[in-house]
Amino acid sequence: MKPFAYVKAADEKQALAALGRERGKVLPLAGGMDLVSLLKDRIATPDRVVNVKGLDGTITATPDGGLRIGAAVRLVDLIAHATVSSQYAALAEAASETGTPQIRNLGTVGGNLMQRPRCWYFRNEEFPCLKKGGARCYSVDGENQFHAILGGGPCHIVHPSSLAVPLVAFGAKLRVVGPRGEKEVLAEEFYELPERNLYGETALRPDELLTHVILPPAKAMKSATYEVRFRSSHDWPIAFASVALALANGTVSDARVVLGAVAPIPWRSPEAEAALKGQPANEATAIKAAEAALAGATPMTQNAYKVQVARTAVKRAILHAAGVSA
Ligand SMILES: Cc1cc2nc3c(=O)[nH]c(=O)nc-3n(C[C@H](O)[C@H](O)[C@H](O)COP(=O)(O)OP(=O)(O)OC[C@H]3O[C@@H](n4cnc5c(N)ncnc54)[C@H](O)[C@@H]3O)c2cc1C
Ligand code: SF4
Repeated sequence: MKPFAYVKAADEKQALAALGRERGKVLPLAGGMDLVSLLKDRIATPDRVVNVKGLDGTITATPDGGLRIGAAVRLVDLIAHATVSSQYAALAEAASETGTPQIRNLGTVGGNLMQRPRCWYFRNEEFPCLKKGGARCYSVDGENQFHAILGGGPCHIVHPSSLAVPLVAFGAKLRVVGPRGEKEVLAEEFYELPERNLYGETALRPDELLTHVILPPAKAMKSATYEVRFRSSHDWPIAFASVALALANGTVSDARVVLGAVAPIPWRSPEAEAALKGQPANEATAIKAAEAALAGATPMTQNAYKVQVARTAVKRAILHAAGVSA
């Protein structure tokens, strides 16, 4: 591990003051579960690490009936929050499936949303791939069984955060602070495809911090997340989907469908949403929506199996959200 300076920031202001403008030179540390392994593997080599556990660690109601979730809220506290579990089921379900009890006990919302990709070539110092400034993406001719089937190129990572996917389904915003002030960015626009941002994955600049998630009122939306993993392991899912539905007399009046672990960003599917709107909430509709969601998939050499896995996840997330048994 490269030696680095350590700053413990008491609050948002101190954390911000300790950041720098050059990518990778100063890095925030939250629960540390992702960052420490990146440091040990010399994938991250900052000069300074800033402990940001002093950021807001509370969940509060907003005046319009939504929720404001601090970046330092731990996953275990998010799962235990009564409003999250009763009104934002897709988020509570995704958080409860994340890692192990130990990981959920230490991991924070901010760290989860900002974790780096799991691509094994990216995580291995021996592979100077495109994302690390090298000349090629090793996954194209290599081991790509867990890589992207939608939206990939020139880098084919899949987005790693389980929380970001339901947040996009709910139309959440992320509060970002930096030297130019604060702003709220739609979670859907915060994550960027490799063709736009090869070296990072988000719109966050090195001198900015993610401080809050702002959830709009859930109203009467019904939601669910459905994940597929190898043998219920604690590892990241192979594919999953988060769905938020508005229902009127058994018909879908509004829908948001977002896929996880299949693309470099949380992958919203307007095609699946169009297939749902105005249709009865039943298995036949869910199958059509799932087919629409994956119609544009372009698997790599070893991951065609993920297309059917993702279809199943979309179908089951829709049925769970609608309260319909298959
Ligand atoms: C075995 C295992 C299984 C896992 N399975 C899953 C899973 O299924 N789904 C899932 O989503 N995650 C999974 N994780 C990841 C785990 O949830 C994350 O590593 C963890 O949430 C990261 O949170 P942290 O607070 O430890 O962040 P840290 O490791 O401290 O930080 C992660 C990254 O975010 C940056 N960062 C942290 N806070 C901020 C901030 N406020 N503003 C800007 N940047 C910030 C850091 O610089 C770093 O790059 C798994 C991890 C392990 C070890
Ligand atoms: S998928 Fe991205 S991170 Fe992985 S080897 Fe290719 S360029 Fe590197």
